[in-house]
Amino acid sequence: GSVLTIKDLHVAIDGKEILKGVNLEVKGGEIHAIMGPNGTGKSTLSSAIMGHPKYEVTSGSITMDGEDVLEMEVDERAKAGLFLAMQYPSEISGVTNADFMRSAINSKREEGNEISLMKFIKEMDKKMELLEMDPDMAQRYLNEGFSGGEKKRNEILQLMMLQPSIAILDEIDSGLDIDALKVVSKGINQMRSEDFGCLMITHYQRLLNYITPDYVHVMMQGKIVKSGGAELAQRLEAEGYEWIKEELGIED
Ligand code: ADP
Ligand code: MG
Ligand code: MG
Repeated sequence: GSVLTIKDLHVAIDGKEILKGVNLEVKGGEIHAIMGPNGTGKSTLSSAIMGHPKYEVTSGSITMDGEDVLEMEVDERAKAGLFLAMQYPSEISGVTNADFMRSAINSKREEGNEISLMKFIKEMDKKMELLEMDPDMAQRYLNEGFSGGEKKRNEILQLMMLQPSIAILDEIDSGLDIDALKVVSKGINQMRSEDFGCLMITHYQRLLNYITPDYVHVMMQGKIVKSGGAELAQRLEAEGYEWIKEELGIED
């Protein structure tokens, strides 16, 4: 499997430091969860990994299998095996969902080795069925008029079709009803293998009732302040974040 390594990462937005030294390693076969109060820099971490131009890496490093991710263009990051689901997927007019996904798959492949249309359709149908998606979704324009739940299911469909080695999922659970949450979790759980590593960012513990993480990290004030196993998420659900602040002497 692959390994995503983040070392002493500092990130600023408009000159203001948001991430203040994040260290994290995600390997194939591992599911990590980052939790934490709102506004502590969780989405900033995901945007920095994605290469969003507004997020300036002022020091530290992000590497994928030893290759410098920060030197890569956004499409090169995908080619290197990274998958980034955005908190608010954008609408792209005039491109059907199926076309978008097929070109995303093919852009990761060598020329002459593109996925055949038949194979693509067969795989997409199978995965849409697992995710309990309306078959019409394949021919709809990307994210146009998709409900919140449909967008999330569609992101998991993209994940399952693209088969990345490391995925970063930011708030994949937000706004989902319990049935959609179960379906989305089923998709992620089906991806679990030695060749797949995942970093799930979530404000709520409930996603972790369906996808048991191997590691849970708490982010506060731009740093990972505590790491543990799945039991840490349960304690956060029961007791909130105050005890960590007290333990570490953090003041608001
Ligand atoms: P989280 O995901 O943990 O809720 P964010 O990473 O979204 O936190 O935000 C961390 C801090 O950075 C907040 O103070 C937020 O206001 C600020 N911030 C995030 N994105 C932007 C942006 N695009 N422009 C200005 N400030 C931002
Ligand atoms: Mg530092
Ligand atoms: Mg966020």
